[in-house]
Amino acid sequence: MRKLSAHYLYLGNGNILEKGVVTCDDDGRIVDIQDTNGSLKESANVEFYSGILIPGMVNTHCHLELSDTKGVIPQHTTLPDFIRHVISIERAPLENRVQRAKVFDRVMFNEGVSVVGDISNGSDSFDVKKESQIKYHTFVEALGSSESVAKAAFQNVKEVLCKAHTMGLSASIVPHAPYSVSSYLMEMIDQHCEDSVISIHNQESSSENELFLTGTGAMAKHLSEVIGLDMCRFNVIHKSSIHSYLDKIATSHPLLLVHNTFMRQDDIELVRSVRGWDRTFLALCPKSNLYIENQLPDLSLFLSQNIPLTIGTDSLASNTSLSMIEEMKVLQDNCDELSLNDIVEMATLNGAKALQLDHQYGSIEVGKSPGIVLLKDVDLKKCKLTANSRSERII
Ligand SMILES: [Zn+2]
Repeated sequence: MRKLSAHYLYLGNGNILEKGVVTCDDDGRIVDIQDTNGSLKESANVEFYSGILIPGMVNTHCHLELSDTKGVIPQHTTLPDFIRHVISIERAPLENRVQRAKVFDRVMFNEGVSVVGDISNGSDSFDVKKESQIKYHTFVEALGSSESVAKAAFQNVKEVLCKAHTMGLSASIVPHAPYSVSSYLMEMIDQHCEDSVISIHNQESSSENELFLTGTGAMAKHLSEVIGLDMCRFNVIHKSSIHSYLDKIATSHPLLLVHNTFMRQDDIELVRSVRGWDRTFLALCPKSNLYIENQLPDLSLFLSQNIPLTIGTDSLASNTSLSMIEEMKVLQDNCDELSLNDIVEMATLNGAKALQLDHQYGSIEVGKSPGIVLLKDVDLKKCKLTANSRSERII
C-alpha cells in the first residue's frame, strides 16, 4: 500500500485536489482518495512530491514499429513527400527494429504512459507489446487505393489481426486514410467487427482536401505518379476528404480521427450530423504536424465546439520523441484558452475513453489502476508547464 501526495492532484476527469492524498494497493489499484482541502497534516506514511500528480497518460496515436526511423526523414516536406520517403527509406534489420521498439516502449512507460493506441502494418512490434507494462490497443492498418487490391489487402490485415489476437493483444482493423483506402476496402473494414474502435488519419494535409475537392494537387500527383493510381477513375466529390468516408463507418464503431490539421467548421458539422460527438474523438499530434506540414490544427475552433480531444505522438519518423509532455507543451504554448487541467484531461481520460479503456485507465478514481505520474518542474503559481517540465512514473 502506498499513500501519495503532491502540491496538486489533477484527477484526469477535470477535478483538482490541492495536496490531496491518493492511496494505491500493491497492484496499483486506487483504494482511497482524500481531499485535504489543501492542508496536508504531516504523516509518516505519505510520500509527498513537488509538482502535480496525474493519472497514467494515454497516447492515442503512435506507430511503435517505426521506432528505427528517428531523424531519417527531413522536416517540412509536406505529407505527399513524407509518404514517399516512408515508402522508400531503407529500414533496419528486424532484430534492430524490435530493439528500437523495446527501447521506446520503456521510455514511454517510464515517462508515465499507461496506454497506447498503436498503428501496426505488420506484426514486428507484437512481441514488444506483449511483454510491455503498457496496455496497447493495436490498430491493424489497411492500405489500398485501388479497388482491385482490396480483397488481398483485407486478407493481409485479417492475418495480422489474427496474429495479434492469438498473442492476446487487443486489436482492431482500421483504414489508413481517406486517400489510401478504396470504398470497397472501407466497406470490408466497417463490416468486419461492428463495434471495434476505428481510427483514421484525417485531413492531415491541405493536399488531401484538394484531392477530393478538385482531383488535383500534390496528393493527386503522388497517387498517380508514386502509387500508380488511375486518376481518371478517382471519385472527386467536390467536398473535403472527410465527406468521402464518414457515412461509410457505422456509428456502432467508436471513431478516432487523427491529426485533423485541416479540419474546418463544416467538417465538424458533418460529424455532428452523421454520427454525433459522443463516440467520436480527435487525436492531436502537434509535433508531428509541425514536423511534416509545419502547421497546427485549429485548436480554438475545436475548443469552442466542445470536441473531445486526445493526444498522440505519432511515430519517430515524424517526431523527435514519443513524449506526451512535449506534445502537451506545444498545445499549451499555441492555445491561450487551454488550461493545464484541460490538457491533462486530453492526455488521460479523453484518450482512455477514445480507446474504450476508461473502466480501468485515464483518471484517478477508486477502483481504477491508471498508474500515477508526477509532472515536475511545473510553474505551480500559474499552473503552466515550463520548457523544463518532465513527467515521471511513480506507480
Ligand atoms: Zn500516424
